[in-house]
Amino acid sequence: MNMYDVVVIGSGPGGYVAAIRAAQLGLKTACIEKSPTLGGTCLNVGCIPSKALLHSSEFYWQVKKEGAEQGFKIQGLQLDFLQMMARKEKTVQGFTKGIEGLFKKNKIDWIQGHGKLKGPHQIEVGGQVVEAKNIILATGSEPISLPFLPFDEKKVLSSTGALALTSVPKKLLIVGAGIIGVELGSVYQRLGSEVVFIEFLDRICPGFDLSLSKGLQKSLTAQGMVFHLSHKVVKADLSQGIDLTVQSGNEETHFTGDAVLVAVGRRPYSGNLGLETAGIQKDSKGFIPIDGMFRTSQPHIYAIGDLVEGPMLAHKASEEGVAVAELIAGHRPSIDYIAIPNVAYTHPEAAAVGLTEEEVKARGIPYKVSQFPFKANSRARCVGDEEGFVKILAEANSRRLLGIHILGPHASELIAEPVLAMQLKATADQLADTCYAHPTLSETIKEAALGLFKAPIHI
Ligand SMILES: Cc1cc2nc3c(=O)[nH]c(=O)nc-3n(C[C@H](O)[C@H](O)[C@H](O)COP(=O)(O)OP(=O)(O)OC[C@H]3O[C@@H](n4cnc5c(N)ncnc54)[C@H](O)[C@@H]3O)c2cc1C
Repeated sequence: MNMYDVVVIGSGPGGYVAAIRAAQLGLKTACIEKSPTLGGTCLNVGCIPSKALLHSSEFYWQVKKEGAEQGFKIQGLQLDFLQMMARKEKTVQGFTKGIEGLFKKNKIDWIQGHGKLKGPHQIEVGGQVVEAKNIILATGSEPISLPFLPFDEKKVLSSTGALALTSVPKKLLIVGAGIIGVELGSVYQRLGSEVVFIEFLDRICPGFDLSLSKGLQKSLTAQGMVFHLSHKVVKADLSQGIDLTVQSGNEETHFTGDAVLVAVGRRPYSGNLGLETAGIQKDSKGFIPIDGMFRTSQPHIYAIGDLVEGPMLAHKASEEGVAVAELIAGHRPSIDYIAIPNVAYTHPEAAAVGLTEEEVKARGIPYKVSQFPFKANSRARCVGDEEGFVKILAEANSRRLLGIHILGPHASELIAEPVLAMQLKATADQLADTCYAHPTLSETIKEAALGLFKAPIHI
């Protein structure tokens, strides 16, 4: 029987990172993965393929939309959708093979198969039993389906199906206007689909500050996407095409389309893990409860990533992966959850860290807020990408930063500095007094920070 210091179940950004860090710290490590490739949701059917398609589709859309204004004419521009998909696939393969390489480099055993706890220290995989002093559960999450819209990945799509289509649907209905919905909606709208969202809530992307959600909805609407908020899908007829029955107040309407993407959220993948054999409970939503050190009710069995409460984000899972490996090795890591960014890779991008204005108000924190628009930023004007703003919230007395919210070009990259500032518990003055290269988009952060307790220069 093999005996490991650490066995990780699941090789997503939580699991594979935990395995690498554990091995770096000298622990004999194995990672059990049931899929034929490593990398989990993020690398195979999540972050990476979606960002590859977002990039290609934006490239195509920008050339079509802006080429003439930028000073070049392209005749006969044609979409080669299958090539776009092949490029996405190649990108994904590069990454999943890369993780295999990292496993080899760090002498991590990849055990292929479905892992199931057999006892407090035993895991069964494909007929063999692996023994471990410490076990890390990192089995991630799966898309939630609606009972009357089971996924067939042809007409009724989960995000996984939407990343693997063979043609662009003429009309794509999207149930759920969260980040995954608006990202995939952006891809297909740019490629020519008519995209219609049906959203139960009265806003899109509810995790963001309301100003970001509203600004993003305005931009996406201007691009041609249609949003029906406060609408609930209650029935579906799939006999010919798609016919959704949708309720709003007392009214019932029908929405038809060629395909429907159900993007109503994800749930932890905690079934068939043998939790009962090890005496571990799940909560009512399927999450595995843990303490502040990622320990389940069994102190040597840990859980991280999408499997536990918190934002379902790859970088959150990875931070937890590093932290849990270091804990097992006897270190004392800590994660500052307030400094975990959240991004929508739409156009414009939305990115945020810290508290939203609604959260600040709800907590009764005295605060100041400042907003600076990209249209007053020289770099944004040079590149012709002026939509959006930077919004900063700071505590009124201590001037400590509470939250930074960006809607605009390259927001996903710009947010890195505010994340560091939040992590270092910086004040608004420290951001405002920092020198930023000119002309850069990042000068909007300085200007917004100046607007809190001094005054911005360029508006
Ligand atoms: C379309 C889409 C786009 C996304 N974009 C982003 C983004 O841009 N940025 C971001 O931060 N997040 C994004 N996410 C979310 C991100 O993918 C997840 O938060 C992240 O992958 C969670 O990591 P994890 O390690 O917890 O689990 P996962 O990545 O889900 O990995 C879990 C792994 O465990 C394996 N597994 C499960 N059960 C077993 C078992 N019993 N035995 C063996 N193996 C098992 C699974 O096969 C899987 O490989 C996106 C998700 C989707 C769907």
